[in-house]
Amino acid sequence: MYDLAVIGGGASGLAAALAAAEAAKRAGRPLRAAVLEKNPRVGKKLLITGNGRCNLTNLGAGPEKYYGDVGGAAEIFRRFPPEKIISLFREHGLLCRTLDEGRVYPYSLQASSVLNILRAGLDAAGVETVCDFPVCRIENIPGGFALVSETKAVKAKRVVVACGGRACPQSGSEGDGYALVRPFGHTATRLSPALAQIRTDAKRVRALKGVRCTAEVTLLHGGRELKKTRGEVQFTENSLSGICIFEFARFLGEYEAAELEVTLDLAPEYGIPELETLLCAGVNRDAEMPAAAASEGILCKALGGEVTKTALGNASVPAGSLTAQDVRAVAETIKRFRFPVLGAAPWQNAQVTAGGVPLAEVDANLQSRFCKGLFLCGEILNIDGGCGGYNLHWAWASGVAAGLAAVR
Ligand SMILES: Cc1cc2nc3c(=O)[nH]c(=O)nc-3n(C[C@H](O)[C@H](O)[C@H](O)COP(=O)(O)OP(=O)(O)OC[C@H]3O[C@@H](n4cnc5c(N)ncnc54)[C@H](O)[C@@H]3O)c2cc1C
Repeated sequence: MYDLAVIGGGASGLAAALAAAEAAKRAGRPLRAAVLEKNPRVGKKLLITGNGRCNLTNLGAGPEKYYGDVGGAAEIFRRFPPEKIISLFREHGLLCRTLDEGRVYPYSLQASSVLNILRAGLDAAGVETVCDFPVCRIENIPGGFALVSETKAVKAKRVVVACGGRACPQSGSEGDGYALVRPFGHTATRLSPALAQIRTDAKRVRALKGVRCTAEVTLLHGGRELKKTRGEVQFTENSLSGICIFEFARFLGEYEAAELEVTLDLAPEYGIPELETLLCAGVNRDAEMPAAAASEGILCKALGGEVTKTALGNASVPAGSLTAQDVRAVAETIKRFRFPVLGAAPWQNAQVTAGGVPLAEVDANLQSRFCKGLFLCGEILNIDGGCGGYNLHWAWASGVAAGLAAVR
């Protein structure tokens, strides 16, 4: 029987196993521990994080940067600030560097460095990694648990469930964890894709496919502002994309998509009167040119065309035929380019899960309130953060907290 088995060899599971094994070693109590991973190798998702560079934490990570049951995790955020995570990695030989907006990466800018450091640490601490082991059931047995797959079973005195959520199921995180802990009385709040593209009317974006622009982006619910941010927006065949759009996706789990709308202010530094003046100057340059060209001094060609079409219904009438009202309509559309929301991108294209097992169902050390010896960490819990290293920060922090508590 293992002293500890961790189900899931992702960020939080590897952190939990390593922290547990090293703490036991320091205390002079060798630990028989194993990570059980359904994939042929651990850390599949970790390798694709941060576009292969692994944005592993953020200097600004703290409770205010998260959604979900943040209050229930306050103690973990206090114990494991970003500096602590960076120093834990450094103790294992991984140097980090901070780039824009407090985003912390491995100094090598390679996600594989992070995974290799963790795997080397686990080897040195004597933790077994048992791959191709998709746990499908956890059973209570005398003195611990049996972890059962279709073909094999192992026993462990304590168990950490670190199966992740439902985002990016192709990496192995298919939502198994919720079903594994349900027999113990655990529940999950509504799950929805977070950090994902937002689907909109394909007719509205098809002509803009591939275009990128900087905008002030607002998510509205029934006309009321839910969230506003600035950043780069990208248009795809049928979606709005870009980091600022990703951050809106989690709200689609809370509100009906039909009541939501995204608006882009394509010239946030300028007011409508200034834009009208600029557009009139465009019209005066050449009255024969198509109306869309009047905005050429403000927007890229594709955007100018779509904005004019949206404002006037036709972008190719001669600029000279535009009335003052037409010019105002184009200026207003530049300030408020509206897109209906049809839904978030599917789980396959989501980076994170919004929702999960309520923090109220675990204690401050992430031990199940329903079953002693069972711990939960990482994305399976109802905590999610924005882009910028916040989600991996939670994975490390909660993983280390659960691992340490499991061997205490
Ligand atoms: C493309 C992409 C890029 C991202 N980039 C970043 C980034 O740069 N910075 C950031 O902070 N966050 C990023 N994230 C989010 C971050 O990767 C996750 O929040 C984090 O990995 C969650 O860690 P976890 O350990 O809880 O779950 P996961 O990393 O999902 O790991 C869960 C593990 O459990 C295994 N598993 C599942 N079920 C079972 C079972 N039944 N039996 C055995 N094993 C099982 C899975 O195969 C997987 O290995 C990104 C996510 C994606 C998809």
